[in-house]
Amino acid sequence: MKPMRMCMVCRTRREKQELIRMTANQTGEVVLDLSGKAPGRGAYFCKQKKCVQLARKRRALERAFSQPIEASVYDKLEKEAEAWPNES
Ligand SMILES: [Zn+2]
Repeated sequence: MKPMRMCMVCRTRREKQELIRMTANQTGEVVLDLSGKAPGRGAYFCKQKKCVQLARKRRALERAFSQPIEASVYDKLEKEAEAWPNES
């Protein structure tokens, strides 16, 4: 069985490749982990625009990492999301 991870917005469980990973790096900055292999605590979202938009609305990253998140982090995520399909 492939490893499953849960989207922190909609709580759907999916295979890792269907999710995008966010991680806090050594300096505490929250970044997109496009390799999926960066060390540190990770949080996952579906590769879907609605989850990215909801994450921003609900401040999901702030909650996941217990720290303030720069708007630019969500901007990057939304930019990344432009390439993803809309449907589930
Ligand atoms: Zn989701």
